[in-house]
Order: sequence, then structure tokens, then C-alpha cells
Amino acid sequence: MAPRLPKRTPSLTTDMDTRYTCVSFDCPCSELEELDLDEHVNRSTWTCIECNCPVSVDMANDWGEKCTVYRYQAQQLKKRDYIYKGNNLDVAVEVTGSNATDVEGRWYFALAGHKFEFVEPDRYYNCLPTGHHVR
Ligand SMILES: [Zn+2]
Repeated sequence: MAPRLPKRTPSLTTDMDTRYTCVSFDCPCSELEELDLDEHVNRSTWTCIECNCPVSVDMANDWGEKCTVYRYQAQQLKKRDYIYKGNNLDVAVEVTGSNATDVEGRWYFALAGHKFEFVEPDRYYNCLPTGHHVR
């Protein structure tokens, strides 16, 4: 039986977002205190429209936990990256597996302490900035 997948990759909610910034030194947008989501942020890639670098996103939930993340797709993540799952912004969860599968559109994704799942390769996650992407 063919796996049933949603037609469109679900997008991340922006409910907990409090601030977007560009941290690229060469970018004119890095001078801004805050980026405007509609004006300066490419919402389909979570990058700065000027320099195409991932934007830094400050987040806060209803009970006062805060964090700063970058948004990467499942297929951009590797083992030992950390992501925030759901509304929990207190503790990031380690990625323990992230691999292509034989089935197109099905990406193997595993988190420490969670059962592995198959997700869309382009599904975005809230990632800890200390991952391998950021030097
Ligand atoms: Zn920029």
C-alpha cells in the first residue's frame, strides 16, 4: 500500500515568534533591530531576503520559556543537531537520525527519547543555533 502523505508540507506556526533578526555581518539588514516578517523575511525558507542567510528567531511561549532558533528543513539536519519540539522551549531535543529513504517525499527523522517518524524532507524545525550550521 502506498504511504499516504499530506499534499502540502505543514508550515511552522509563528504564534510564539517574538523577533526576527539577520545576523549576517555583511548584510544591510543586520543593522536593523528587528526584521519585518512580511518585508524582510522569506517565509517559505526562513531566510533574510537581502542575504539569503537563515534569520535568527526569538521565541517565547505562554508560560515564559524563551529561546532563539534558526529554522532548517529535516533534510538539512544531522545527528547531534538539537531542535525544539512543539511548545516546549525549555529543553531542546537531540536529533539521533536524519536520512533519506527509498520513498520520495519520506524522510526518516528520529529524536532522542521519541519514536522515529517519517516526515516531508522540507519540513521546517526550530533548531538550536549551536548546531553544525552555525560557526
Ligand atoms: Zn540579511
